[in-house]
Amino acid sequence: MKLVWFRNDLRLRDNPALRHACAEPGELAALFVISQGQWRQHHMADIRRDFMLAQLDTLGAGLAALGIRLHLLEVETFAELPEALARLGHDLGVTHLYANQAIEVDELRRDGAVSARLAQEGIGCHWFNGCCVLPPGRVLTGSGEMFKVFTPFSRAWLKALDEDGFVIHRAPPPRGKPLAWTSLVSSGLTKPWDNAHWPVGEEEAERRLHLFLEQGVLDYPAARDFPALPGTSCLSPYLAAGIISPRQCVAALQQRLGHRPQAKGQPGYVWLSELIWREFYRHLLVKVPGLSMNLPFKPETAALPWSWDPVAFAAWREGRTGFPIVDAAMRCLNATGWMHNRLRMIVASFLTKDLHIHWRLGEEYFMSKLIDGDLAANNGGWQWAAGTGADAAPYFRVFNPTTQGQRFDPQGEFVRTWVTELIDVPEPYLHQPHEWLRAKGRDGYPAPMVDHGKARLVAIDMFRHLEKP
Ligand code: FAD
Repeated sequence: MKLVWFRNDLRLRDNPALRHACAEPGELAALFVISQGQWRQHHMADIRRDFMLAQLDTLGAGLAALGIRLHLLEVETFAELPEALARLGHDLGVTHLYANQAIEVDELRRDGAVSARLAQEGIGCHWFNGCCVLPPGRVLTGSGEMFKVFTPFSRAWLKALDEDGFVIHRAPPPRGKPLAWTSLVSSGLTKPWDNAHWPVGEEEAERRLHLFLEQGVLDYPAARDFPALPGTSCLSPYLAAGIISPRQCVAALQQRLGHRPQAKGQPGYVWLSELIWREFYRHLLVKVPGLSMNLPFKPETAALPWSWDPVAFAAWREGRTGFPIVDAAMRCLNATGWMHNRLRMIVASFLTKDLHIHWRLGEEYFMSKLIDGDLAANNGGWQWAAGTGADAAPYFRVFNPTTQGQRFDPQGEFVRTWVTELIDVPEPYLHQPHEWLRAKGRDGYPAPMVDHGKARLVAIDMFRHLEKP
């Protein structure tokens, strides 16, 4: 019996582990491991867990229709898994296990321990690249090192993709008669998923991808920074759970344009670059294990005197900073589990460079709220914003939350949606509403919790002292 272990790759299409397992005849079953304790340790957001389990339900039904039974194995943490899997392997008569590689340290250690334990049972493990277009380790400098900044990585990535090429694989054909599937809802494992904003299913992910490519990709460079516009693909939860593969995204982009964009200025290039950012952070995570262990990419920045102020942190979390764009973004995250990329950059810069609070707190909070929480992208984004990461930008780049709001939410549509206290503030005052509110005798919105000009200088000083202690 061959066993395919699904993880962050909850799809039938373009799934290398499933395809390889299906390439040979013989009995085949599938597996998903539920480890609630581990998920909690990793601060997995409830919305992400429920989204994942809803997709798992759909996947289980899809596999059953192909005659493949999905087994669920429940363990509290990864530590119990090698033994539990060895028992299951024994009970099912498994000879080979197939899975797509993980990239995070705990997951890599888990997979190593599973491989070793299953080898004792005579079960061979086969690992594939399912989470990146190009496998981590494929895109390196001339001297065999991982790139430390994005632009040369992206050039080398495009060249490597030209050399390697890739194909997209369809869902496997049926392996036998359809099987019955008892939904995870009726077995009490999860509750019904009725989030109209993020329906599950591979078809839904592909529908979004094609809609974006038809209607959005050419305007993406102009629209992508404005949170009030539907200017981005909103595919991140689907990519994070592996409901769609990054290769499917690149292939569909190529199909839409008739070629693969290769350089700045070409249609579709900016969106492809975002997919390459995703790859960059994933490749980096594998090469720099410390990133999974709370360590900064630039080791010298470990000495920065970050604050851990719980009061200021709570104001940021709850959207009570007195900076409308920051507050709107945080309230949107808390209410929906998603945040626009421009806003992620603004609030991360505000936490680290205006409040001087450790990026680890922000990273963890994002993880505990985001439907698309992904260690590589989240850690990469936070370290980029904090000035501790793989980034060519100088440390004195500090976003001004007021001008960012004025520039990227000029009519205040986004702010008014989430900061309802400001709904009737006239446009010219919206991103600095305090004087106007005072003149009207209104005190329902907090005063700015910091003077941005002064806070910026403190942040710059923190970094300058690092250079010249
Ligand atoms: P699009 O703009 O349509 O981009 C397409 C895809 O490319 C995205 O779905 C995503 O998979 C990838 N992508 C886009 N931008 C980035 C980026 N900067 N870094 C890495 N991948 C990118 N993304 C996550 O998927 N999970 C996270 O936990 C996460 N945390 C972040 C934290 C911070 C502080 C910052 C600044 C960014 C973070 N991002 C994260 C990246 C980015 O904000 C989201 O991927 C993006 O907003 C998702 O929207 P979209 O699907 O419409 O993206």
